[in-house]
Amino acid sequence: MKNLITTLLLIFLLTFSSFAQIQGEGHPDFADQDEIDSDPNDFIHPNEGPLEGEGHEIGDHSKCTHDSLNIPEPELLHVDEPYPPTESESEGRVLASASTFRIYPYYGFLAPAYYKTYFQNRLGPAIVSYFEHALKVKYPVSGKLKSPSSFKTICGKTIPSVLKPGVSADFFLMFDSQYDQPASSTASTWVAETYSCYLAAGSKRPLIGKSVLNRAVLKDPGTNVLLHEKNIYMMLHEITHALGFSSSLYKYFLDANGKVRSGHVSKVGSATVLNVSPLTTRLRSYFGCSSLKGAYMENSGSSATAGSHFERRHYPYEAMTSGLIYQQAYSQFTLAVLEGSGWYVPNYSYADPYWLGQGNGCNFLFGTCSPTYFDEWCSGSSRGCTPMGRGGGSCSSDIRSDGCRFVHSNVNYDCENPSAKSYARLPSLQTFGRTANSKCFSGTLSTSSGASKSSFCFKYTCSGSGANTKVLVTIGSKSYTCSRKGSLSVSGYKGYIDCPNPQLFCSTVGAKTCPRGCMGRGSCVNGKCVCNKGYSGKDCAA
Ligand SMILES: [Zn+2]
Repeated sequence: MKNLITTLLLIFLLTFSSFAQIQGEGHPDFADQDEIDSDPNDFIHPNEGPLEGEGHEIGDHSKCTHDSLNIPEPELLHVDEPYPPTESESEGRVLASASTFRIYPYYGFLAPAYYKTYFQNRLGPAIVSYFEHALKVKYPVSGKLKSPSSFKTICGKTIPSVLKPGVSADFFLMFDSQYDQPASSTASTWVAETYSCYLAAGSKRPLIGKSVLNRAVLKDPGTNVLLHEKNIYMMLHEITHALGFSSSLYKYFLDANGKVRSGHVSKVGSATVLNVSPLTTRLRSYFGCSSLKGAYMENSGSSATAGSHFERRHYPYEAMTSGLIYQQAYSQFTLAVLEGSGWYVPNYSYADPYWLGQGNGCNFLFGTCSPTYFDEWCSGSSRGCTPMGRGGGSCSSDIRSDGCRFVHSNVNYDCENPSAKSYARLPSLQTFGRTANSKCFSGTLSTSSGASKSSFCFKYTCSGSGANTKVLVTIGSKSYTCSRKGSLSVSGYKGYIDCPNPQLFCSTVGAKTCPRGCMGRGSCVNGKCVCNKGYSGKDCAA
């Protein structure tokens, strides 16, 4: 029997430990959590309402692991494709002729009906739209993508009837679902397994994939927009593995001229380093580290996890790190890995903004991860704003961060979460909501003196430019001006609010941006998505 699995990717969750955390009363604000162990999926579940207690974090207990023991060589499928490119097609011409990437999603194995409906009508189409717009394909399938008549099954499943005559697509993606609740308080369970079952015989580009979802964990979000968005990131992560971001597929990567790459994967200590030109060029320029060898992949965890994810210590909030961090970013670097595969040409306007470590030099990556040197890091376990700035959380390390501490996001302090108001200090001064234009500001503001550091969500506007950039912060009904980094006093209150560096804030956290390029379903106008007819939401994902 042919082995259909080429890539096996699992995300594990320690769900029960989070349950215990939810039950705990008055979860301390400053709890030291070296291992964040709460369940991202139980928060804001539509049937449960907001969580009880503070400090419920969306954490790193979800581990997407690459089970190398079960990864056989991928199977090849013969399709008509313009590969190898003819000699006359120079790099530039190949790039120019890259075609629209066509994905055929197949929802026929999903059950029960409500779950299939969510995937078929909401989550699946949003993900497909994203990849079809963010990527062009260099070696498209000409004619039909179909299963040979000799096949009895495909990816271990009954062959979908549409694959017999074939479909006009470059990638066929099957969704399947199971229900697998962890059995005990210490048991883990998985979120999704994504297989790339077949590669094109010529270009070795992934052609047919399967994503099996655990609906006990990856749930129908109902009307909860934040949970829908979290599901989007989870599926972007999974499908990105299937498209090429996978240690088992690196060896098939092509260069810009369609030749099989060599020497692009190396080991530095225990870390796999991926060095493909579109990626490494961007990384060196971004970090300001010209000696950087490439992207360091996750070195902790099983051999399965290592290699197929960005190193958390280098890319704390990137969507392709191992283990979900709430409020993550699908950055230019992930698109650059896909470009580096030689199979795709990304449109980088679909990347989420990302700025952690930008311009900080090699020391950010390899030096001491201390707030003494870089603002991205923190020490202790107090409350603050995440480096992404969308909300607050507690300073901690996690199992993938090599001991480096940064503020991990917490849904209860997320400025885009309307329910976060009930966990806020001085809630009447703050503004929450998906489109409230509110960001996180740290400080000790309180009615009494000597209060601890906390995070606050205030509306703001950026004005001026260059050295004259100012941040106008709305605190309650009054407006205050941050013209330089420092402490801001608020009349009638003790303590202070931390003014960020205005120029830095307004070009990163405070910049107006369109999430994930509006998912390919709208236009970004002045940093705001104008959604095409039929779509809505801040990111057009609804
Ligand atoms: Zn993963």
